[in-house]
Amino acid sequence: MDGSVPVSGYSPAFLSITAFCMAILTILEYPDPRLNRVARPVTEFGERLRQFAQDMGETMYSAAGVGLAATQVDVHERLVVMDLSENKDELRVFVNPQIVWASTELVTCEEGCLSVPGIYDVVKRPARVRLRAQDVAGTAFELDCADKLAVCVQHEIDHLDGTVFVQHLSLLKQARIRAKLRKRHARR
Ligand code: ZN
Repeated sequence: MDGSVPVSGYSPAFLSITAFCMAILTILEYPDPRLNRVARPVTEFGERLRQFAQDMGETMYSAAGVGLAATQVDVHERLVVMDLSENKDELRVFVNPQIVWASTELVTCEEGCLSVPGIYDVVKRPARVRLRAQDVAGTAFELDCADKLAVCVQHEIDHLDGTVFVQHLSLLKQARIRAKLRKRHARR
């Protein structure tokens, strides 16, 4: 150490502790059968859950995604994270999320997924939903969701139920996507 003060204002010791505490988790890729497992409800709200939610956030940000479900990192518990903000500074954590109301009005939106890299396609879903969930401390709340948030919430809850968005597409499209991903894997 040369004794200089880091630009960020944090001591090097603090930085190393922060780096040590973060973990980037491995994201499963379609058609991995583990993506089709149904996640179980979260029943314990404590330090482990808080740390896991933080790791989920870090993993999502490092992969430049807007949402991530625990299922995608091979943890089969009902927790999702998302951040639809422009500056990526509004991490939302939904524990045991469920849709308690959905509009009859549908919306068609192009979706992508960190578990299906490079593939985008349109899915039709309810335009607005009401979400019931708990935060990492276990406090229950409800949230009315529209636009991108409504789509993202439904996409992530699908993951917890073992459904990847491409499974909403025609069987022909699904076969084409699997072939494309296989070809890409072979080239790696
Ligand atoms: Zn996804």
